[in-house]
Amino acid sequence: MMTTLQKLLPPCQNCDEPSRDLFCEKCLSELRFHKACITCGKAPLSRSLRECLPCATLKKPWDHLDVSFFYEGGIREFIFDFKDRGKPERLRELELNHLPKMDMKYDFIVPVTSDPSQTERRMYDSTTLLAKRLSDLWKIPVLPHAFERKKFLLSQKNLDAETRKKFLKKVVSLSPSVKSREFNHLLLIDDVLTTGATLEVHSKLLRKITDKLDVFCLGRALKA
Ligand SMILES: [Zn+2]
Ligand SMILES: [Zn+2]
Repeated sequence: MMTTLQKLLPPCQNCDEPSRDLFCEKCLSELRFHKACITCGKAPLSRSLRECLPCATLKKPWDHLDVSFFYEGGIREFIFDFKDRGKPERLRELELNHLPKMDMKYDFIVPVTSDPSQTERRMYDSTTLLAKRLSDLWKIPVLPHAFERKKFLLSQKNLDAETRKKFLKKVVSLSPSVKSREFNHLLLIDDVLTTGATLEVHSKLLRKITDKLDVFCLGRALKA
């Protein structure tokens, strides 16, 4: 039987049961990214390993990649809400227990760039807002305007990873204000990791100005 107090609680974003948190405990553990390779999402792994063997041997432009959730169910709805449904205030529901334990020695959090025409349509930059929320929770400052991005007139939605990477390389660059600076440890962030093209292009640029570079994404989208 549900108590009156429980009935008053807002629903879990994933299963609609009353929950004190964005997700109830059961859904939180189901959605959490675990037992899968963080790079390809495929082979089941032991808890101690983050990547399958083939992925672990691939050279990547970052040192360490971390992901909070599988991009499905309630977390997909949550990201849709703050990104495309004009509800950026929902980011306040993101709490420390939704995030991996991080090494807090970062100089700055750096958000990836979004396509400028999408930012115009949304009227806010959702990745920068996510960076600000993470900054509040982790107490790490955000490095704003690290990149410049030109408008790209074709839709990138149906491009494969390689083509997307080629186009992104043409439109994204380091901004003049950071080009001559040197950092020790930066954390690049994005909302959803899909092909990895966005992270790769931004990481390669940041590599020019930082010694160590880690990456964090809220969701990991896996191909069915
Ligand atoms: Zn639930
Ligand atoms: Zn893998």
